[in-house]
Amino acid sequence: MSRASSHALKRPPVPVPSEPAGAAAPDFPELAVAIDRERRRGRGAQSNASGRYEAEARVAFDDGWQSLDDLPPFKTTVSLDTARKVITRNDSPDIGFDRSINPYRGCEHGCIYCFARPTHAYLGLSPGLDFESKLYAKPDAPQLLEKELAAPDYEPRMIAIGTNTDPYQPIERERKIMRGILEVLERTGHPVGIVTKSALIVRDADILARMAKRNLAKVAISVTTLDPKLARSMEPRASTPPKRLEALRRLSAAGIPTTVMVAPIIPALNDAEMERILDAAAHAGVKEASYVLLRLPLEVRDLFREWLMANYPDRYRHVFTLIRDMRGGKDYDSQWGTRMKGTGPMAWMIGRRFEIACEKHGLNKRRSKLTTDHFVRPKRAGEQLSLF
Ligand code: SF4
Repeated sequence: MSRASSHALKRPPVPVPSEPAGAAAPDFPELAVAIDRERRRGRGAQSNASGRYEAEARVAFDDGWQSLDDLPPFKTTVSLDTARKVITRNDSPDIGFDRSINPYRGCEHGCIYCFARPTHAYLGLSPGLDFESKLYAKPDAPQLLEKELAAPDYEPRMIAIGTNTDPYQPIERERKIMRGILEVLERTGHPVGIVTKSALIVRDADILARMAKRNLAKVAISVTTLDPKLARSMEPRASTPPKRLEALRRLSAAGIPTTVMVAPIIPALNDAEMERILDAAAHAGVKEASYVLLRLPLEVRDLFREWLMANYPDRYRHVFTLIRDMRGGKDYDSQWGTRMKGTGPMAWMIGRRFEIACEKHGLNKRRSKLTTDHFVRPKRAGEQLSLF
């Protein structure tokens, strides 16, 4: 009988990839063992290293009985998230919302730079390929939401959806959890701001348009590049850039306030495209824009490094030199206030280019504001019965 095994081992010494010709890349960290290309076809991460809370690393190795090539590809699986609350609170001073909902954990879009990846380590899973393939869904999110909105001390304020994982990732097509959430928010007159990289959001344009008429909804779609090759390798299962622009056009035409997010900006990889993206979005009817500099917290740094070495080795050194120029000499700086835009001359220049392009295309002249004036607290279980 043959075996190709995955064993629990003490963290092993791992191979360091050779540097690209002519590029003395800044201090390589220990990189995880890359998973065979066929097993990760259509995925973003190159590896599946254990999360930071695991005492042991799992490494697939050929024990001589069978080739590692025979291991199956990473398939998408969906488990139930049984959390009893659906609204998550935050008190970060540099983001414009204090509460959010994530109908899913993990994200099949698989963007290599995704700063939500490290959250999969809380589940004992890898922020690498596990994050893109071992997904969790909250099918009862609409009911839980209604219950939380019904609490007597609930104070309405915009709920952000899609700020961690994407609510319109492919499994939403069948599960329709996001649509159920929107139905609750519309019924209760509660404001919502959505961020996505999926054209699937157009499916819910009917609800969003009705909510937008009452200043209850706005949508941001992130467009990182117009280059199909870069998009395919960097965000493999998100909608293509033309589909995202078309979604922005259709939502804008339906009267829904739209924002294009040029996010993340990666120096020497997509920053040169910023003006073109803003131009294309303005032509699609978008009125607002924002940008965020690449963020590399925790495991994301090494996952991004592996991907960059595999796909753009000739730019590796340049990209990281510029990142460090904008992060005070580090790969990432999580300081509130500067973590979104960076610091230093290069970061300043990106900011000025953004402002000039927005000015040119008439973006950000007015910021859409949502209202809580229409909020009607839903009845709690038992309240209706007490009328009789
Ligand atoms: S779409 Fe958003 S949540 Fe999903 S992988 Fe990409 S960046 Fe992460």
